[in-house]
Amino acid sequence: MQPPYLAPLEAPLSTLRGVGEATATLLARAAGGPRVLDLLFHLPTGHLDRRERVLVADAEPGSLVTLEVSVERIEPPTSIRAPTRVVVSDFSGFAELVFFRAWPRDKLPIGARVLVSGKFDERRQIANPDHIVPAGRPELLPAVEPVWPLVAGLFPGQVRRAMARALEAIPELPEWHDPALLAREGWLGFRDSLRAMHAPDTPPGPQPRRRLAYDELLADQLSLAIIRARDRTRPGRALTGDGRLRDAALARFGFAPTADQAAVLAEIDADLAAPRKMLRLLQGDVGSGKTLVALLAMLRAVEAGAQAAIMAPTELLTRQHFRTLSELSPVPVGLLTGSVKGSARDEVLGGFADGSIPIAVGTHALFQDSVRFADLALAVIDEQHRFGVGQRLMFGRKGEDADVLVMTATPIPRTMLLTQWGEMDVSRIAHKPAGRPAIRTTLHPLAALPDIADALARALAGGGRAYWVCPMVSESEESDLAAAEARFATLADRFGADVGLAHGRQDMPVREAALAAFASGATRILVATTVIEVGVDVPEATIMVVEHAERFGLAQLHQLRGRVGRGTAPSFCLLLHDDDLPETAKKRLTLLRETQDGFRIADEDFRLRGGGDLLGTRQSGERCWRIADPAGDDDLLHMANRDAALLLHRDARLRSERGQAARTLLRLFGRIEAMRTVDSG
Ligand code: ADP
Ligand code: MG
Repeated sequence: MQPPYLAPLEAPLSTLRGVGEATATLLARAAGGPRVLDLLFHLPTGHLDRRERVLVADAEPGSLVTLEVSVERIEPPTSIRAPTRVVVSDFSGFAELVFFRAWPRDKLPIGARVLVSGKFDERRQIANPDHIVPAGRPELLPAVEPVWPLVAGLFPGQVRRAMARALEAIPELPEWHDPALLAREGWLGFRDSLRAMHAPDTPPGPQPRRRLAYDELLADQLSLAIIRARDRTRPGRALTGDGRLRDAALARFGFAPTADQAAVLAEIDADLAAPRKMLRLLQGDVGSGKTLVALLAMLRAVEAGAQAAIMAPTELLTRQHFRTLSELSPVPVGLLTGSVKGSARDEVLGGFADGSIPIAVGTHALFQDSVRFADLALAVIDEQHRFGVGQRLMFGRKGEDADVLVMTATPIPRTMLLTQWGEMDVSRIAHKPAGRPAIRTTLHPLAALPDIADALARALAGGGRAYWVCPMVSESEESDLAAAEARFATLADRFGADVGLAHGRQDMPVREAALAAFASGATRILVATTVIEVGVDVPEATIMVVEHAERFGLAQLHQLRGRVGRGTAPSFCLLLHDDDLPETAKKRLTLLRETQDGFRIADEDFRLRGGGDLLGTRQSGERCWRIADPAGDDDLLHMANRDAALLLHRDARLRSERGQAARTLLRLFGRIEAMRTVDSG
């Protein structure tokens, strides 16, 4: 139920006194929403301070000044295009006010004393002053003026007047934050914080914006936690087993699970055994052994008499999974991709439908309506970020209450986990199976390219295989990016038929053939774009060269590096960068040289790139905040996450006084689904 006292905030902007339809439309465009509340959340990007008066002689060119001056004389325009000039003075010297358009004659009679505020330029002029008021009426001058983002046709005065009305429309609201937190952070209430931002007497400092950002983040974390708790109470299947199939698989595998794998499996087993739906994200760096975990989880479902499926984003990765799982699984495994056709396809579909094939491996072909399962109880989704977010839950529909395990090799920064993955539980594999060779990472200026080619020749002579990654596919006139095609040509000059080429603009069969040739050893250098980033597994490849490494994200470089070091031989990653690399860029690359900890790299990447273009562009823009900044307010996000958990722990239905206030917060930030959930609980 909507608290009635919020109605004035949810009303259209035209309900504000003095705001007509035309202005309301402009305000709505600037604010990104048509309601009074949207305008209130349209925070200024800064504040102009007009309080201090300076003498003309002391005015700094380029600064915002407020002068108290007398009008000396008017110099009318000398031509149609020329401005009107008004010469003013105080006892320290002279200045000029310059008007390109209408000149406010009434405000500037000769001899008048006025307060003039505006930007003082190099020529000791103020062009089109922001404000001119009589010296005797200083209260007419806005002391501290918010700078709101505008749209064409909208002027600051209109925003200021509408905002004053909007601020009046805010009712007395209950406080949803802990008083101790407010005291510690020096935060005002919700309404006073908005006032401090939009109509301040003094420049507001960072607190009011942070308070409002925290409001938004808490609303976000609270609603995620509520929805998550609701999903956990959805009925699911209790899957238990006697371990027979697992033991058989481990016997074939020949190794025991590592401590990390065992710990993660225990978390998964607890979810599977519980009579509710599992929604779990398994994070593990490339080569950390997620496939074994997936297999053992799937076999638990089979032990319980049901079926399991694993879905991967590419044909290549799917086939790889199929090979591995077929080798290890004591029960039949069926493969379904776009290229499985004819009678083979019918056979697999039949086996899924009658349950004789208990484990399915496939691409998104598994989504198709023609695919039916006798009893699907567990869906594993590998490399989630390659699938659309909407698809995440679509797969669940194949088995209404199927448990879902999502696996990703891309370490997701904590900040992202809290926001975009907030509805999932998270498990991590932090350490790889022992015996993995370290990957030696080195940095080289592009000028060293001939030496790199020589080193490559020696490595090939010793039986090695190498990836050579370039950032772009074809050379454009205005850019000197190393193009994969151009690099392929130069390397083919030297290494002949040993060189292959794979990039995203090739037709699928051509690209898959290039990857297959490299995997079989028919070619031994694979020049590629980032198409090889995920899922390509060639244990014999021990060298990764990345050209223009500075143009990649750290997480992406880490991902690329993970393509080597998958066998037993020592491996190398050579990061080639621009010859004159800025210091900060060098620092970023140095982090890769220093650590192979994907989680640390992901957090750092997020911090450095501010979340905007995270992990390439795949995960950006799924959710955005109007006030908070995902990178800069990262401390607040973590606070909000803990605070939300605590609040719900004490008062899951939000019935207490603070709980009721928190409902208001959810309402203010439009978290309607969460509101409904607590109401219906
Ligand atoms: P991921 O899918 O996480 O990138 P994989 O599942 O492909 O990693 O595992 C990487 C390699 O580690 C594989 O060659 C796999 O056989 C091996 N491996 C996995 N678990 C173990 C283990 N417990 N002991 C020894 N080797 C393991
Ligand atoms: Mg894998």
